[in-house]
Amino acid sequence: MTVKAAMENEPENLYRRLPQLGAFLDSSAAGGLLETFPRELVADAARNVLLRLRKEIEENALTVPLLERKLERLKETVAAELHDAVQPSLRAVINATGVILQTNLGRAPLSQAALRRIHEVASGYCNLEFDLDTGERSKRDVHIEKLIPRVLTVLSGKPADRVPESTAALVVNNCAAATFLALNSLAEGGEVIVSRGELVEIGGGFRIPEILRKSGAMLREVGTTNRTRVADYASAITPQTRLILRVHRSNFRLEGFTERPSIEALIELGAQNSIPVFEDQGTGCVARLDAYGIQDESCWLDSATAGLSLVASSGDKLLGGPQCGILVGRRPLIDRIRENPLYRTYRVDKLTYAALETTLLAYLNGKQESIPAVAMLAMDAETIRLRCEALAAAVRSPFLKTEAVPTRSVVGGGTTPGASLPSFAVALQHTELNEHALASRLRRLEPPIVSRVANQRVLLDLRTVPAGKDATLVALLQKHFGDASRNPAAAVQDSR
Ligand SMILES: *Cc1c(COP(=O)(O)O)cnc(C)c1O
Repeated sequence: MTVKAAMENEPENLYRRLPQLGAFLDSSAAGGLLETFPRELVADAARNVLLRLRKEIEENALTVPLLERKLERLKETVAAELHDAVQPSLRAVINATGVILQTNLGRAPLSQAALRRIHEVASGYCNLEFDLDTGERSKRDVHIEKLIPRVLTVLSGKPADRVPESTAALVVNNCAAATFLALNSLAEGGEVIVSRGELVEIGGGFRIPEILRKSGAMLREVGTTNRTRVADYASAITPQTRLILRVHRSNFRLEGFTERPSIEALIELGAQNSIPVFEDQGTGCVARLDAYGIQDESCWLDSATAGLSLVASSGDKLLGGPQCGILVGRRPLIDRIRENPLYRTYRVDKLTYAALETTLLAYLNGKQESIPAVAMLAMDAETIRLRCEALAAAVRSPFLKTEAVPTRSVVGGGTTPGASLPSFAVALQHTELNEHALASRLRRLEPPIVSRVANQRVLLDLRTVPAGKDATLVALLQKHFGDASRNPAAAVQDSR
């Protein structure tokens, strides 16, 4: 480089060539954009683009000709920035991870019926808190208050007196809120007995000891990490005891030299001492998981019909409904929780009631396989193998090697730690991209494909992909990897 050219490319000189923001906005280049978008939004986009150019100059990444070329395309770059700014950030993705209740991907997908109900109820007005018989004000939880206990009785096959008339239910935003609200309503200022083996962190920072402290209750730890007996609970009971709390360990398994009282034993202890027994159960599972080869799991249905005073569960885990927390239990306890002023801060909206009610009704109508999470759980590996083979054969790409391989799916959502289901996946290998680069490339497609990486390959487990989306997957892969004239390394840009 000549001395003159070197001086020309000095940052000082390059900065001087950048237009002022005001000048850009007043220029004809910005004119077209201002017709469509609010001025502040255009200004914001232009500011970002100019800031990026300043940064490139600062890093000595630009020369005069390079910068000039970029400035010629300034309007297009700002327009692209604007385009991104008005796209929704929350987008539908294809979950090919094989994790059915993947919390990061929104857990349980809703059934078609639930979606239709949401549409019906939310596109106009509804009787959310309105009694159509009397024409008077009503309460929003009447819609599920009887339905939840009824579903539990019917599915458990237990005589109705095990889920007595005095059983009620309440719905809040999520299971974490349900547990907190129950502790605050029933145990503030008193003591709650918990086994040391159950002082767990569920995920997302939900730690039982911290939640207990925040609820205003005092934690009374009993037993040891691996073994806790009924006698440990019994000897911790004092006049200050308000609750016995049992927690589903959710995301880990304790094996070996372990002991934990049965739910029945805790119920008996509670009854003898007139202390309610509350279980943070979590899974919302009403199915028999052993039918799918998953043993030894805590089950919401069993807990809620065992005679516990109160049980908290999630709506968007194995129940397959919307995000919510469900409390089922003795009516006097549910009433105290409902009267807590904090209940108002956790209440759910009509969309949640619409989806939850429809999901629960599917169980009563014998249509549980219309609930996607249930259908995915029940899908047999052979069906998945056939889909994987068809998909692997349909993709013709000079860059991608595709093959159907056996794998294991997991339920996820902290419901069945350590358990998995036999499944199949389409394994992808790219001639020029390593597995991580390929996975990243797949995430940038529209819709994004979220995959799993194992043994230097990208796996697409079709258990969590609706069968109707197989053709979309083929078309996406074909479009982005099928053409030999395309440079596979030119990732990103073409797929946005
Ligand atoms: C998942 C889970 C929670 C949290 O449920 P959210 O609905 O995500 O708030 C709480 N307790 C247990 C035992 C769980 O499994």
